[in-house]
Amino acid sequence: MSDNTNEDTEMQSVQGPPTDSGNVANPTAIRPTFDNIFGTEMVDLFVGPEKKRFHVHKSVLCQRVPYFRAMFESEFIEAQENLATFPEDNAESFDVLLIWIYTGKLQQLRRDSVSNKWTWSPIDFFQLAEKLCLPIVMDRTMDTMRAIDCETHMGMGLGSISNTYSKTGTKSAMRKYAIDCLLFIFFESKRHQWPVSTFQDFMKDNPDMAVDFMEGIRAVYDQKKTRLLNPSNTKIPNCQYHCHGADEPCPHSTH
Ligand SMILES: [Zn+2]
Repeated sequence: MSDNTNEDTEMQSVQGPPTDSGNVANPTAIRPTFDNIFGTEMVDLFVGPEKKRFHVHKSVLCQRVPYFRAMFESEFIEAQENLATFPEDNAESFDVLLIWIYTGKLQQLRRDSVSNKWTWSPIDFFQLAEKLCLPIVMDRTMDTMRAIDCETHMGMGLGSISNTYSKTGTKSAMRKYAIDCLLFIFFESKRHQWPVSTFQDFMKDNPDMAVDFMEGIRAVYDQKKTRLLNPSNTKIPNCQYHCHGADEPCPHSTH
């Protein structure tokens, strides 16, 4: 299991060190400065209905996220004005994303044991990472969230499962985890606490989930399973919920 803050790649120089120094005898004269590394051009991102402003180094943004590179190194109006708006997105998720962009690490995630609230929403953040096509970040989000679920022996409840299906794409790893949690509830919980009518209401509003759920039931039958393992169990490897295929190597060195 990976720790919460373990990350993928070291921050690298955005630009190379200066080459026009005339004094090679003095090593301090050729050290990359803050401006050399991060650049001086800034962009403004306005996020969410409240238009939360993030003032960000353009070169850092473009180096770390190809989606932003396509946006800000193009002929689009965003590139000309160094400004972009994301009214549908979530400011908190952008905040966590920018911390990852600058530090290479996911911000520590915790869940309050009383209120059950997360310090930042892994589902919302996964949605943003999926939109920006960042599989490494999606994998780390899954690992981080599942590590806490495993520690607390708590998987997703119906509210989180529904939320996942409303915010993520077909075949996403977060959906896979959500449906495994739903199957676990369905097969392993006490029948009187979870009557079938509960699931019926739930399925009506989520047709994609209903299909995945039935596929899951068929897989359980085909595999002749008599008991299901809790998806928030460390016996299930992280790769089960990574973006890479079952036969592909895992890009994370910790596994
Ligand atoms: Zn993996």
